[in-house]
Amino acid sequence: MASVTMREVEKVYDRTPVIHGVDIDVADEEFVVLVGPSGCGKSTLLRMVAGLEAITGGEIQIGGNRVNDMPPKDRDVAMVFQNYALYPHKTVRQNMAFSLKLRRTPKAEIGTRVEKAARILGLLDYLDRYPKQLSGGQRQRVAMGRAIVRDPQLFLFDEPLSNLDAQLRVQMRTEIKELHEELRTTSIYVTHDQDEALTMADRIVVLRDGRVEQIGPPLELYDRPANKFVAGFIGSPAMNFADGRIVRSNGTAAVETAAGIHLPLPPGGEAGDGTEVTYGIRPEHVRVAETGVPATVDLVEPKGSQTQIVLHVGGVQVNLVTPERVGYERGRRLHLAPDLDAVHVFDRTTGARLD
Ligand code: ADP
Repeated sequence: MASVTMREVEKVYDRTPVIHGVDIDVADEEFVVLVGPSGCGKSTLLRMVAGLEAITGGEIQIGGNRVNDMPPKDRDVAMVFQNYALYPHKTVRQNMAFSLKLRRTPKAEIGTRVEKAARILGLLDYLDRYPKQLSGGQRQRVAMGRAIVRDPQLFLFDEPLSNLDAQLRVQMRTEIKELHEELRTTSIYVTHDQDEALTMADRIVVLRDGRVEQIGPPLELYDRPANKFVAGFIGSPAMNFADGRIVRSNGTAAVETAAGIHLPLPPGGEAGDGTEVTYGIRPEHVRVAETGVPATVDLVEPKGSQTQIVLHVGGVQVNLVTPERVGYERGRRLHLAPDLDAVHVFDRTTGARLD
């Protein structure tokens, strides 16, 4: 097992820079998830760690050793891909054994390692089947088995669950986490799915356009996003935003929107009167109240465990989530009270968190 260090890592494809100086530290035994929208550079970073892509600038270390110029096979890293990349004409056992065979591992040891991985992954009964005789989830387990048998110092996962249906994806998340609890192998996991990141990561790295936006434990990113991008990317349904300017009078503070609506702020705060900001509040931190911000109901969606309500405030759409079962008709006017402790304020121009 090993730590991973990325220092000012850059990548240029055909004169187009796509990674612009990224610094990430992954501790020994840590499970770090790289998340961000499609095209932000997640796979490119992972492939540079694996050695499948050249590093244009900066340095990558695995276990304290600079690997910039080290061939992939010498990095002691195992990668699990989205498309499984199994050999169709080999059995599960042969697929899992193949890389060890290439390394001329003694036969008895190959047998032991494959059996052990198959036991951990619940594949003992499938060792003599071919990939086409397996379900999607089982194929993905074989792909992980192939990584496990090598006992590498680092696992790299590139969107491994994207090809699975929603229910199986949720189940496999748990399995991969449990696997990590058991093996403790340092892992870097790439996904575009913020929910996957929140549930699986020890720490999340949010990337955007080849830059790191924020690094931290899941709930830290959720509770104190460093900027509007992270605030909007992490959490579903997404955080509500409204642009406006700060108005302070008689010890109270609010954000006044273009429509003249006042969104309450906690007293105090550093941003001065007139500052142009974006107000942010998560759907579960808004409730219907006797008085407050006037809003009109557009849609009520019962989800069983909770109800999602879509409303508009002035011209701005607002989502609200409540554990209660409510049935407001469309067009119903009511008032909203944001939880003042859960209000986020961002600089309107830079998007940086202000409080
Ligand atoms: P992600 O994994 O976050 O979806 P990628 O790392 O695949 O993003 O891509 C990052 C950027 O680099 C994108 O703009 C993509 O078009 C570009 N890119 C990826 N691979 C290549 C390549 N082989 N040649 C040229 N551009 C590439």
